[in-house]
Amino acid sequence: MITASPHPRLSSPAPGWRELWRDAITDAAELLEAAGLAGRTDLLPPDDAGFALRVPRGFVARMRQGDPSDPLLLQVLPQAAEHARVEGFAADAVGDMAAKAGRGVLHKYDGRALLVASGSCAVNCRYCFRRHFPYGEEIAAAAQWREALAHVEADPSIRELILSGGDPLALATHKLDELTRGLAGLPHVIRLRIHTRLPVVLPERVDDAFVAWLAALPLQKVVVLHANHANEFDAGVDAACARLREAGATVLNQSVLLRGVNDDAGALADLSERLFAAGVLPYYLHQLDRVQGAAHFEVDDERARALVEALRTRLPGYLVPKLVREVAGDGSKRPL
Ligand SMILES: *Cc1c(COP(=O)(O)O)cnc(C)c1O
Ligand code: SF4
Repeated sequence: MITASPHPRLSSPAPGWRELWRDAITDAAELLEAAGLAGRTDLLPPDDAGFALRVPRGFVARMRQGDPSDPLLLQVLPQAAEHARVEGFAADAVGDMAAKAGRGVLHKYDGRALLVASGSCAVNCRYCFRRHFPYGEEIAAAAQWREALAHVEADPSIRELILSGGDPLALATHKLDELTRGLAGLPHVIRLRIHTRLPVVLPERVDDAFVAWLAALPLQKVVVLHANHANEFDAGVDAACARLREAGATVLNQSVLLRGVNDDAGALADLSERLFAAGVLPYYLHQLDRVQGAAHFEVDDERARALVEALRTRLPGYLVPKLVREVAGDGSKRPL
């Protein structure tokens, strides 16, 4: 129909992911209102503790209305507890976070090189090391990519290139395409892995152009999502996961064990079941990086082990994630 519509908004195309990204909630009062907690001024944080509030509206829509303990809300709402100074929690908890937040390539583990492809995220997760590195947009500029690719080219032991960040899917698809074109001349690289939270928090990112790029890559493809709770999934996320698989990717998930969010055998079992329903396998369950401002999320190792032990009795082995911690200087994630 070409005639003028009395409701032009209804006939305009669905907003693209960039638009949805920009439209994220960045104000605590607005977030509380959207979560059905408008009257709860006691939940308003004194400030953002130096790390901006940011959460896409589609993620907020998956929160339970009127529940101040909602596991999605707790991941994104600043809390007064972030100001607590706790022994052992430092701005640079894993030693190489500065490097991660900086630029270029991290080559700590055999066979795998990790490229910090972008410093941006669609969501600011309160427990993340990123809170101490307010780095700019798209830090891996073309020149840095050339440097990183030169490193990968010079080392034939590197079989897998990992795109991480921040969130590498913050980059426009044409930028990702530029990057992977650079891999074409490196026959020892057989696998591309993408670590991203975007298909969960803003599933519209997995759009036609992205899927076409992924499907056309002449490499083995792995996408590692980041979801911490079953409630993060809805029909839109399911569809994004399905598209990733249809494009030929093996889709895995890593979670962070977070007190008050998912430190419960039932919640973790539900997450694994929900992942599998979306065609995703659990990969890692991370112990929290001990970053300043995140101590209130920590679960001690003994409880963490007991939780995973409980999962083992309840779930098939392939739905039990590996419990790990990242330790500076180790040659792999450290199993607990
Ligand atoms: C976590 C990480 C990897 C990937 O480790 P896997 O155990 O293969 O998932 C690779 N490089 C760096 C620097 C990492 O931090
Ligand atoms: S999406 Fe990942 S990198 Fe970004 S803030 Fe959340 S946990 Fe940190």
